[in-house]
Amino acid sequence: MTGAQLTLYNSLTRSLEVFRPLDPERGVRVYSCGPTVYNYAHLGNLRAYVFTDTLSRVLSWKAGENAWGPLTHVINITDVGHLTSDADAGDDKMEAAARAQAKSIWDIAAHYTAAFKQNIADLNIRQPSRWSVATDHIAEMIDFAEKIAPDHCYALDSGLYFDVTTVPDYGRLAGNRDDAAEGRIDPVAGKRHPQDFAIWRKSPPGEQRQMEWDSPWGKGAPGWHLECSVMSIKYLGAPFDIHTGGIDHREIHHPNEIAQNQAFCGCGDSGAHFWMHNNFLVDRQGKMSKSKGGFTTLQSLIDAGVHPLAYRLMCLSAQYRSELEFSAENLAAALTRLKRLVMTVTALKARAEGEGTAPQAWLARLDEAVSDDLNTPRALPALDELLAEKKLAPADRLAGLAAFDAVLGLRLLELTREELRVRPVSAAITVQEIEDRLVERKEARLVKDFQRSDTIRDELAAAGVEVMDGDPLGWDWKPAFD
Ligand code: AMP
Ligand code: ZN
Repeated sequence: MTGAQLTLYNSLTRSLEVFRPLDPERGVRVYSCGPTVYNYAHLGNLRAYVFTDTLSRVLSWKAGENAWGPLTHVINITDVGHLTSDADAGDDKMEAAARAQAKSIWDIAAHYTAAFKQNIADLNIRQPSRWSVATDHIAEMIDFAEKIAPDHCYALDSGLYFDVTTVPDYGRLAGNRDDAAEGRIDPVAGKRHPQDFAIWRKSPPGEQRQMEWDSPWGKGAPGWHLECSVMSIKYLGAPFDIHTGGIDHREIHHPNEIAQNQAFCGCGDSGAHFWMHNNFLVDRQGKMSKSKGGFTTLQSLIDAGVHPLAYRLMCLSAQYRSELEFSAENLAAALTRLKRLVMTVTALKARAEGEGTAPQAWLARLDEAVSDDLNTPRALPALDELLAEKKLAPADRLAGLAAFDAVLGLRLLELTREELRVRPVSAAITVQEIEDRLVERKEARLVKDFQRSDTIRDELAAAGVEVMDGDPLGWDWKPAFD
């Protein structure tokens, strides 16, 4: 198969560019800004990792065809330095959470990191080559800061600050942002320019932080942006191929990383060839955000009876650069679509004979869709058509499906109907009890005892289970959620 050229949108040039690894033999090197582990990830945060996983799966798919070397993907865990504002204002998010929950920061970090990794597993997101934890790299951050300090930084009582006028073209990534107008940059006494940012934040006199380290600029903690420059360069070298994050990072965090990278290399290079950003998951209140509270976690969906891969499918149904609205209706539609796919695959498996061969024409359709800036919404209908293509033997359709699913990551060959029927935690009834009651109800209907049949239906409804008579998908019941 002669594949399509992989084209990706580069936020740095604001244009679609053909992607080729900087060093094909060394492989493809990707760094993704990871979660700040002071709270559970909300569904918007997780959209960012469904996006990076799609990117990573597409890169693996294209690597085979182009003979690129291995994919190295690093995701960091931010357990220090991210303040309650993305600029230099407020408290450290980790310190604030530890105080509010009367726990140590280390316990907070361990708890929310484990919860995040569980989300990653539930969404069938591939493990990166490395999780790199900010607090494991403090000494390297200090070394990095010492190297850039003489030419690019100045010290104030509150810490060490980066002077953004010392690097070329500061803020190019963000475009024409107007921080002052949006009030995003909190004035720090003595800062030379509003966009200057903290490299090292000194602990205020008389105040002991849970997390603080000695440094040439006094006891304190690193600024948030430092960790990503240090860890990406350490594990991937500079420049590397692709740096990702949510679109909010295009405004402050990534321009600041770029400034640090330029200072470190003493050149104009941003540190990465492509900078890629996923758009927001929004709900009726606007952008979903952790700091606003009241956010929806993946676990809350599972608890309500929604399989987590329905959320993954919902993400894939939009291109990563479009906003995606989260609503119960959109989620329910994704769940129904996933059920339909699983039932089609189950039926094909029952009819398939022997090993199939993936049809070239369909592989080409998949390739064209995902090579066009990860256009998963275009790959999904192609998959539906493949599964329904009567001219193809079931085994061949399944072989084609395996190729699609290597990129979509929906576990379509393994998922069963039973797995999709997640029981809500609030349901006071087991799956076996539900099945037993449905058998009873069928018997009642056979003898035309409709009163009894209705009573059973009402009792099941009270237990959080909706009976589905005549469901076109052949589903006998569903959790009352959707
Ligand atoms: P944080 O844990 O706040 O550092 O964020 C983790 C990732 O989620 C970052 O890449 C953010 O840019 C991204 N992100 C935050 N909010 C949203 C949202 N509502 N939709 C999509 N991505 C988001
Ligand atoms: Zn980062």
